[in-house]
Amino acid sequence: MEIVVATRNRKKLNELNRMLGGLGVTLLGLDSFPEFPEVEETGSTFEENAKLKAGQAALFTGRYALADDSGLEVDALGGAPGVYSARYAGPDANDRKNLQLLLQELAGVSEERRGARFRAVLVLSDASGQSAAVFDGKVEGRIGFEPRGDNGFGYDPVFFPEGHDRTFAQMAALEKDSMSHRGRALEKLKEYLAAK
Ligand code: IMP
Repeated sequence: MEIVVATRNRKKLNELNRMLGGLGVTLLGLDSFPEFPEVEETGSTFEENAKLKAGQAALFTGRYALADDSGLEVDALGGAPGVYSARYAGPDANDRKNLQLLLQELAGVSEERRGARFRAVLVLSDASGQSAAVFDGKVEGRIGFEPRGDNGFGYDPVFFPEGHDRTFAQMAALEKDSMSHRGRALEKLKEYLAAK
């Protein structure tokens, strides 16, 4: 089975290849389809955005396509930044600016009120662009008071997963994968593909 992964991010493709190895699935990145246009993420949920990306990639390539969408929900901010996690600090946002803004918005918020979770949704579309399956994963935790650790990306340096006194950025990749939102959604996808 050939699946197009709707991402230009090499790291994501490598991660998927690592996790899905041995299942007889061939993953193709969008590098193999350079003329595929950028998909606008206009959905208001992770699932809507993942469906948009997977559906369009499937229609364009005439193959099964897989897309993911993910982000951080902070309770004290009413679930923000949510689907806007990547662009939280505005049009020229980057990881550092997003993280700084988050800490600024949470200034004065006590430890008990800093609950948060990462969510990830993976959508597999069939070649006609219809969603064939949806897999989700989440990890509960809390937001720290200053960045800690150099691993990972995004909000990792301020996210303490529940039951741990180290942030995701203080963990090795494999340890993070074993409890992360994306790791959990990928496990479900793996079970689905293994049963196919
Ligand atoms: P996307 O799903 O690749 O569009 O990612 C959305 C955004 O959510 C990223 O740019 C990060 O800011 C944030 N995010 C998603 N997953 C993680 C994670 O595992 N660690 C840190 N930040 C994450």
